[in-house]
Amino acid sequence: MLTPRIEINLGKIAHNAKRLKELYASKGIDVIGVTKVVCGDTKIANTLVKSGINILADSRIVNIEKMCEAGIQAQFLLLRTIYSQANDVVLYAGISLNSELSVIKELSKCAVKQDTKHKIILMVELGDLREGIMPSDLDNAIKEVIRLKGIELVGIGTNLACFGGIKPDEKKMELLSSIAKNIEDKFKLKLEYVSGGNSANYNWFMSTKDVGEVNNIRLGESIFLGCETLDRKPIPNLFTDAFTLIAEVIESKTKPSLPYGNVYQDAFGNTPKFIDRGLTKRILLGVGLQDVLVLGLTPMLDIDILGASSDHLVVDVKKLELKVGNELEFDLNYGALLSAMTSPYIIKKYK
Ligand SMILES: *Cc1c(COP(=O)(O)O)cnc(C)c1O
Repeated sequence: MLTPRIEINLGKIAHNAKRLKELYASKGIDVIGVTKVVCGDTKIANTLVKSGINILADSRIVNIEKMCEAGIQAQFLLLRTIYSQANDVVLYAGISLNSELSVIKELSKCAVKQDTKHKIILMVELGDLREGIMPSDLDNAIKEVIRLKGIELVGIGTNLACFGGIKPDEKKMELLSSIAKNIEDKFKLKLEYVSGGNSANYNWFMSTKDVGEVNNIRLGESIFLGCETLDRKPIPNLFTDAFTLIAEVIESKTKPSLPYGNVYQDAFGNTPKFIDRGLTKRILLGVGLQDVLVLGLTPMLDIDILGASSDHLVVDVKKLELKVGNELEFDLNYGALLSAMTSPYIIKKYK
C-alpha cells in the first residue's frame, strides 16, 4: 500500500463522538464538533453528523465551504472570523464567533446584501489572552451589536487553555455564567448558547456539581484523540488511536552514530550535536517535515527518532531488523495530526 499515509478509523471517531455527546448531555451541555484539526475532512465530518452532532465548527471558511459543498447536513460555525472574508462567512457559515465590532459591522453589511441573517456568538476574554472582549467592555459591545441589521446575537462564549494555558475551572465557568445572566437581564434577551470552552473543560465538567448557564462546548481533540487537554490524560472508554501514521523504510544500513567531517549548519540552520554510540542500525523513512510535525510522532515499536529533514526521518532501530519497504506505525499528537491532515503528501486512508 502507498506511503506515507494516515489511517483514519471512522468507527472509533464515531464511538468517541457519541460517548462525549452522551456524557456532556448528562449535565445539559450540547457538543459542537470542531473539524479544524482534520482540515474539514468531509468523511470525518459526515461521521460526526451521523453520530448525532448537529453543529460543526472550523476555524477556516474554506473548510466550511468544502463541507457545505459536500452536502454535509449540519449547521456550520466559524471559530475565527476575518474581516476581509466577511462575505464568504455569511454565505457559508450560519454562525460565527466574534470579538471585534468592526468585523461584526462588516458581517452585518454582507448579511443585508445577501438578504439573510447571520448569527454571532460574542467571545469573552477570561484570562487566556487569545480572542475575546474584556468583560468590562461587553455591555457597550452588545448595545451596538443588537442594533445591527442582519445580525442576531445568539450567545456568548469563552476559550481557555489555548494560548495562555489557563485552566477552565469552577471560578472561570461561574464568571461566564454570571456574565450570561447579567446580559439576559439587562438586555431582555435569551442567549441560546453559553459556550464554555473546548476539550480542556473536561475536568471542570466531571467535577462540577452545577454547570450554571453553560449549555454548550466545542470539542475537537477529545473526539479525535480521546483525551482531555490540560494534562493530555485519556478519557475513560474513548479510543486514543483513531489515527495512525504509516511510513516506509527507504534505506536500512549499519552506520556510525556520529557524523564525520567538519560540523556546520544542518538543513534548518541548526548546528547539530550527537553522542557517539558506535555503530548503530539506522534506517531512513520516507516521511519528513514537509509531511508532519515529527516531534509529535510516537513510534509504536521500541525505536528512537534521531531527527528529520524535509523528506527524511532518521531512526535508530536498536535491536530490530528492518528492510527497505517495511512499514512503521506512529501515534500522533494534536500537532502531528494537524500537520498530517494538512499535508497534501500524506495519503488519507479510511477504515
Ligand atoms: C480549536 C478550537 C476549539 C476546539 O479545541 P479542542 O482543544 O480541539 O477541543 C474550540 N474553540 C475554539 C475557539 C477553537 O479555536
